[in-house]
Formats: sequence, C-alpha cells, structure tokens
Amino acid sequence: MKAAVCASFKAPLRITDVTLASPRRGEVEVTLAACAICHSDLHFIEGVWGGALPAVYGHEAAGYVTGLGDGVDAYRLGQRVLVTLIRACGACQCCSAGRPVNCENPGDAETPLSLADGTPVVQGMKTAAFAEKVVVDASQLAPLPDDMPLDVACLLACGVITGVGAVFNTAAMPPGAAAVVIGAGGVGLNAVQGARIAGARRIIAMDVAPEKLDAAREFGATDGVLASAGDAGARVLALTDGRGADFVFVTVGAVAAYEQALGLTARGGAIIMAGMTGNDDFMRLNPMMVAYQEQRLIGSKMGGAVLRRDIPRLIDLYRQGRLKLDELISKRYRLEQINEAIADTAKGGTRRNVILFDAFEGGI
Ligand SMILES: [Zn+2]
Ligand SMILES: [Zn+2]
Repeated sequence: MKAAVCASFKAPLRITDVTLASPRRGEVEVTLAACAICHSDLHFIEGVWGGALPAVYGHEAAGYVTGLGDGVDAYRLGQRVLVTLIRACGACQCCSAGRPVNCENPGDAETPLSLADGTPVVQGMKTAAFAEKVVVDASQLAPLPDDMPLDVACLLACGVITGVGAVFNTAAMPPGAAAVVIGAGGVGLNAVQGARIAGARRIIAMDVAPEKLDAAREFGATDGVLASAGDAGARVLALTDGRGADFVFVTVGAVAAYEQALGLTARGGAIIMAGMTGNDDFMRLNPMMVAYQEQRLIGSKMGGAVLRRDIPRLIDLYRQGRLKLDELISKRYRLEQINEAIADTAKGGTRRNVILFDAFEGGI
C-alpha cells in the first residue's frame, strides 16, 4: 500500500510502498477514505516532539473495516468507522474512571509497518493514517452510520472532539457561563461551537488573525477580540461585566496564549489547557494570585473523549445542523498532494485540510 513516509524531520514526506502486517488479536485493518491533517502531525514532522524515524503520521481518519483480528466482535467487515489515536486497555484505573485518553496501559504494540527492505516504520501516534490502510487496536475505532460522509466524519477523530470535548467533558461548562476561546483554528472553532451548544451567555473568540475572528462568529462566537491588540485584556473584561471569563479555553500551543489567559479569567474561573506546546516550553504564573482567586488550571487531552459515548452524540448534533462539520474543511487533497496540504496547514489560516484516498469515491 501507499503511505507518506517521514524519513527526516522538516523534509517533505515521501509517498512510497509500505508493507502493512495483518491485524493481530484485538486489532482491526481499516481501508481509509479520508484523513485530516492536524497541528500535532506538523509538530512531529517538524521534529518539535522528537521521536524515531522513519515514521508515518496522521491520526484523524475514517474508512471501512477490511480486516479483523481474533477476538474483535464489535465490528464487521465493510463497516464505516472513525480511526483515532486514543488507544485504551479498558481495564486500568483511568479507563475504569471514564478517562481512556489517559489509559495507563495502552500497550506498546509492535509496528505493523515496514519498508520493502524490511526496515521497520514507526506507527506515528499509534495510527499512521497518512496511508491507504491502517492496522490499529479496536479501541481506536468508533462505528459510523452508513450515510455519514467520511471526509466529514474523520474530523470527529481529533479536532472536533478536542474542541467540543474541552467544553462538554473537561470544563463541564454550565449554561450561562462566559467563555473565552483563545485561538480560532481547527480546535478553537470547535470549542466555540461547543460553547454555543452548551448555552454560554458570551463566547469571546481571540486570535491574532482578524479573518479567523470572522470564522469564529460563523461558529457561534458572540464577540471577537484581536489577541495582539494592546487592549485585548481590557476588552474581554468590558465584555464580561469586568469579571473576566468563567472559562478560558486555550486551544493554541503558544506560551504567550497561556500567560494571556491568566489575565482573562474570573475569580473562581478555570483555564482549560488544550493547546499542546513544545516539550521544552514553560509559562510564568503567579501562584499566589491563582490561589487567592481560586482559579483552576485544567489539562484537556483529546477533549477527555470517550469515543463510544461522544461520537454518537456529535453525529446527532451534526445531523440536526447544530454541529458544523462541513464548514470545517478548508480544502481536499489526494495523498500525492500531501506535502502541499501540509504546507498550506503550516501557513495557518486554514481550518482543516483533508486527504482523500481512492476508497473515498470507490469504496472497498
Ligand atoms: Zn490531532
Ligand atoms: Zn486503560
């Protein structure tokens, strides 16, 4: 099968033939129809998070089940599924507490990928979905309805659950709260629409790009504030009766955004930390002020998603027109155009760029 292999950091990916092993016990082979490009993929391709090479990245996908390992009863051949990076044992303390994103024993399965000469290829983020097929653990899948378009469905695998889940699951935001969302990209727009669905009284989008604030309004932001403006903090206070926001969602991996968030949070308010920075980034904060104001800093990974609980909810909201998904796609590319798609994503200004595979039109 064809895959986009990263052989050295910051270099273009190489489309080449890669061998994929058959699914072992508990694993499923999925022939992909679509895979979106996420900023986490860019972090890996640029070497920001390190890791061994060669590797195949891509972790936000959807396709058809084409192979079942022993012991997988929950799926059938031909079924439409979403494929994500969340691999969970289902039995550890975190999984038992409904937090599979923090699974303590996700396993370190041998990579199913190798080059023609036998060199093993790292299965990036346990998925490796910049390829025509993947073999992943069954816990990384969620069933999709037969009428769900797969270019749209793949977005649910990461960007959407990360943003919407930060609101629904991590923040458990009550109706009537005032929210700030820093960053109006792929994750931020989903935090904005999550806040709209959750009934926020005010949803203030902040970004350094004015055109992204317009996009945020389409997704439900009541106000837009240019993050780089000198009076950004004062404007947020003015929009929240001088209190600051009950919830500030940081959806970009920038230390400056986290430090800005501290000044926008109300007493008793929470900063939801969803933007992933580099390994060596640190922020400055004044612990006394956080303690005195009883503020909370809460990490949010993949929106605290539980796939089999959250994906059906999001599909219902999409079908009713309450969750925007089609509008999240900036552009569609073929696998051969992946470097162009990655460059477009890196430039910023895009929502989600999606790679389509032959199975998108042809099925299996
Ligand atoms: Zn992602
Ligand atoms: Zn577990």
